[in-house]
Amino acid sequence: MTGCFGCHMSLLDIDEKILDLIELVDFDKSPIDDIKKFTGPVDIGLIEGGCSTQENVEVLRSFRKHCKILISVGECANTGGVPHLRNTIPLRECMEEAYLKGPSVVDGVIPNDPDIPLILDKVYPIHEVVKIDYWLPGCPPRAETFWAALTALLKGEEPKLPYELIKYD
Ligand code: SF4
Repeated sequence: MTGCFGCHMSLLDIDEKILDLIELVDFDKSPIDDIKKFTGPVDIGLIEGGCSTQENVEVLRSFRKHCKILISVGECANTGGVPHLRNTIPLRECMEEAYLKGPSVVDGVIPNDPDIPLILDKVYPIHEVVKIDYWLPGCPPRAETFWAALTALLKGEEPKLPYELIKYD
């Protein structure tokens, strides 16, 4: 959602284990297979990014509706991350700076097309919008963290993230 796609890239960093994962799961709605809509109920959903638009809210609610287990992936989803730095500035000021007063703006206008997702007053961590079952920390979480959490859940176990997977120095 509102993130940088870095968490997706980190998932792909499990390298050849992606082949093992494909043996264990069927992907549904995902940028990996480019399926845009859920084809049915799924066991595990992974969400990257915070919630900053009406469209994000709809995507998030759709994930919650279709996924038995929903995992918040990375700091943008967990806390709002870098995008939520805008929360200290009123939305009107953000819009004016971006579209009217910014140094690169010429003849600016604030967009108001119904096809553009409505921007929320703040960037919200996703657990403030829907119930979340697990959180993967990091910006992005390490590939090994994805692997540890997913393989545990697939075995019906609670994910355990040892200190080595959640330290960042
Ligand atoms: S948590 Fe970090 S890597 Fe993931 S989407 Fe946010 S900024 Fe990108």
